[in-house]
Formats: sequence, structure tokens, C-alpha cells
Amino acid sequence: MISLAGRGYAAFVTKSLTLRPVEMSLENSSVSESLAAETEIFRVRLARMMKLVRPPVEHACIHCGSIAVTRDAWAEWHVGDQVWALAETFDFAFCHECHRETKLVERPA
Ligand SMILES: [Zn+2]
Repeated sequence: MISLAGRGYAAFVTKSLTLRPVEMSLENSSVSESLAAETEIFRVRLARMMKLVRPPVEHACIHCGSIAVTRDAWAEWHVGDQVWALAETFDFAFCHECHRETKLVERPA
């Protein structure tokens, strides 16, 4: 059986996916560790870019300004990911500081 975890294969995968080489020794790590590192770098860069496109905001209670607020929503079970995923959000909002129904205001975080 031919091992695909050799140094040459790792270099091929990195080059063929046009990913920037990671500063780590491929001799001491597996291909999957190298790709996981590349994926993490990509995820961090994507998060930075998303903040530039849409700066973070927060939703606050219109009465007291607290961000201890929630909205009614539906969650659907996602079989593939084995998680409840947000499917729909509704207008009803509740402030856990005022302990009453409220309206939300969006402001820069
Ligand atoms: Zn409030």
C-alpha cells in the first residue's frame, strides 16, 4: 500500500489547491494537519473580510438600552450537522432587563 502522507504529496496538494504554504514542517505533520491549518487561516481571513464589509452591530432594548434581549424564532433540526439551525426569526422581542416585551434598536457594537 502506498502512503499518501509523504512530503511530496503534501506539496502537491498545497500547490494544486493554490494555497499559501504554511510555515510548518511537513515532515513532522500529516497532510490532514496541514490542510486543517490552511482551513483555519482561510476562516480567520474570511472573518476579517466580513467585518470590513459589514461592521458588527448589536441589538438593544428601546426602553433601557440593554443587550440582554431575545426574539421569538423557529429552529429546524439539521440531520447532516446534527444541530438545531435557526430557520426563522419573528418580530416579537423580549428584554430580560426590563422583563417585558420590547422593540429592538440596532447600533454599532
Ligand atoms: Zn429593557
